[in-house]
Amino acid sequence: EQEIESFLDSVKFDSQGLVPAVVQDAAGGEVLMVAWMNRESLRRSLESGRTWFYSRSRQCLWPKGETSGNYQYIREVYCDCDGDTLLFKVEQVGAACHQGTRSCFSHVAGTTPSASGSPEIITGLYALLGERRKTLPEGSYTASLFRKGIDRIVQKVGEEAVEVVIAGKNRDREELIEETADLVYHLLVLLVECGVTPEDICAKLAERRR
Ligand code: AMP
Ligand code: ZN
Ligand code: ZN
Ligand code: ZN
Repeated sequence: EQEIESFLDSVKFDSQGLVPAVVQDAAGGEVLMVAWMNRESLRRSLESGRTWFYSRSRQCLWPKGETSGNYQYIREVYCDCDGDTLLFKVEQVGAACHQGTRSCFSHVAGTTPSASGSPEIITGLYALLGERRKTLPEGSYTASLFRKGIDRIVQKVGEEAVEVVIAGKNRDREELIEETADLVYHLLVLLVECGVTPEDICAKLAERRR
């Protein structure tokens, strides 16, 4: 009770009485969404253990998941260094985004040169391929794979795997890089098609590492 009041007093709400709340998956660390809270929605969040936001467009309290069932069970609450931003680590039921994706941040807005050459390219590419599957743009090779369907996709994975094997046998470094990139790309297309995420694969790898 008193603990909640003193926490509420420590938060710096802006001139509109709002504070941005970042919501993160407690297990995997994925950023799920960002929304606003006012004092009352923060109080209800802390009291109920589920997130409540303030909807600026609807101008009302918004219990996340009330219509969708996609509740967020709060595990930990943090505030930033100067107390004007909150971070909620949650257990997310279903999709955080009302458009049906687990995270609201599944639209690639751009990349920087430093992103190329680092492993994040995998998750970025995965998100982009997911967009392609939804929008199926004309003239896109990826879209043509999704149109042809699973048989064509797995056939390409097989072909590229064989090319990796040949490059490896020949110890041809350049060729191995080339063909591995082809294989990883087609594997990601397959994962998108089957609804498996890079996080699922990483979790499995982590589980096996001893
Ligand atoms: P929910 O809170 O999941 O029951 O969804 C109720 C309504 O809240 C939806 O129809 C959307 O208008 C809105 N909403 C839900 N989740 C989000 C989100 N992640 N970002 C923006 N608006 C959302
Ligand atoms: Zn701050
Ligand atoms: Zn969203
Ligand atoms: Zn190839």
